[in-house]
Amino acid sequence: MYSLVVAASLASMASAMCNYGTSLNPRSEKRAEASFGYHELDGALNWHGLNELSAPCATGQNQSPINVIPSELTTVCGSSLQFDVEDAPEGLEFENLGTTVEVFAEGGSIVLGDATYNLAQFHFHTPSEHHINGEYFPAEVHFVFQTTGTCFSKLMMPSISPRWAAANTSLLIDNKTAVVGFPIEITGGLDTSPLLSSVLAFIGNIPNAGDITRTTALDFADLERTLSTADVYQYSGSLTTPPCSEEISWNVVATPLTIDLQTFKTVKSILKFNSRYTQNTPGEVNLLDNARNVLDG
Ligand SMILES: [Zn+2]
Repeated sequence: MYSLVVAASLASMASAMCNYGTSLNPRSEKRAEASFGYHELDGALNWHGLNELSAPCATGQNQSPINVIPSELTTVCGSSLQFDVEDAPEGLEFENLGTTVEVFAEGGSIVLGDATYNLAQFHFHTPSEHHINGEYFPAEVHFVFQTTGTCFSKLMMPSISPRWAAANTSLLIDNKTAVVGFPIEITGGLDTSPLLSSVLAFIGNIPNAGDITRTTALDFADLERTLSTADVYQYSGSLTTPPCSEEISWNVVATPLTIDLQTFKTVKSILKFNSRYTQNTPGEVNLLDNARNVLDG
């Protein structure tokens, strides 16, 4: 009974999250509708109030995004991720979810430790969510990967309580999630990312939530090239959208991808502002919890 309540709650959040299109939030036939936003009362200061599962947004101590201080995180060479995404000669579906624009991609993988993670989707934020040494970027793209597992299988346990479920979201999901985040910089030259240029050329087709288009053929080679020489900063963080679930393996790439100014202006006009504020150092008190303590004196 309780498990069904939790499952229903999770299903009702199957909307415009950064995890949409993964097993955490499977893609449904239903048109994507945002259950949260980035401004005023629907903004990140209130995400924890959406439902019980979103409590980590206000109390989690390993939240994302963060201001990356490279000396405080593990740095690896990008080649170690073995980032490998198959070309998509037929193009891929590209959807406006209301809070981001997302490409549903399969046929890609990365390797972290002993585990292989499979690509589910990639989506965009303006401005960048992660900062590096205090610097933000005009945009950021998140490639979301998951290990294979049985989603929500433990929800079938009959004795589970909603309170326990809210406190143990990650335990309810067998799949592990990893995200590779590339900052995006604007260039005045001809060195734009072929992949991003190909994808974002179609963003004008999907100006409104629920709009779907299909890209032309996509080639991910320039991302693999960038990663082959770039440093990658790793930490254990969270989804940057509700329910802010933790134990997400973050891989922030030091070297930005590039787009041209006109593309950026078009992206910005459609995506609008969709970036969560940077969170406290991993392992430290949640900024909202800290604010509550200060306000309570
Ligand atoms: Zn994201």
